[in-house]
Amino acid sequence: MATNRTFTMIKPDAVGNNYIGPILAKINEAGFRVVAMKYTKLSVESAGKFYEVHKARPFYGELVEYMSSGPIVAAILEKDNAVSDFRKLIGATDPSKAEPGTIRQLFAKSIAANAVHGSDSDENAEIEGNYFFAGSERF
Ligand code: ATP
Ligand code: MG
Repeated sequence: MATNRTFTMIKPDAVGNNYIGPILAKINEAGFRVVAMKYTKLSVESAGKFYEVHKARPFYGELVEYMSSGPIVAAILEKDNAVSDFRKLIGATDPSKAEPGTIRQLFAKSIAANAVHGSDSDENAEIEGNYFFAGSERF
């Protein structure tokens, strides 16, 4: 159903470091098309809900606090094989382990402040995209 779409966020560290432009350039160069996009800020409540799957993890509190600490860019992206190709483009969760040339290797500061989010499955891409863009048009 949604196999050609994924959901991403440019996280507060990358927005704060003025990396929106360079990250979007990488995303475009890799062949992704933007179908929805929003510059916004998560409340503690909305970040907590978005990352609810990680509630039991020791870093959940830190993650929620961090993701609500500043503005983000949320977007739905389209490309064949979007979910797995986007995960390849962003690189490992820990930027020190991310492949050279990946977005996290280039732009992330730490495992917590790791520049971008990328959905990990078609099902979650659909859920996460709807979380930000329910009722809004996709182009
Ligand atoms: P994302 O879901 O943001 O694309 P991911 O799928 O690579 O990242 P997850 O395991 O889903 O990684 O973790 C979600 C987010 O939680 C990570 O992107 C990172 O910001 C944070 N995180 C993960 N592990 C740690 C950790 N050990 N310490 C602090 N924060 C962490
Ligand atoms: Mg994840």
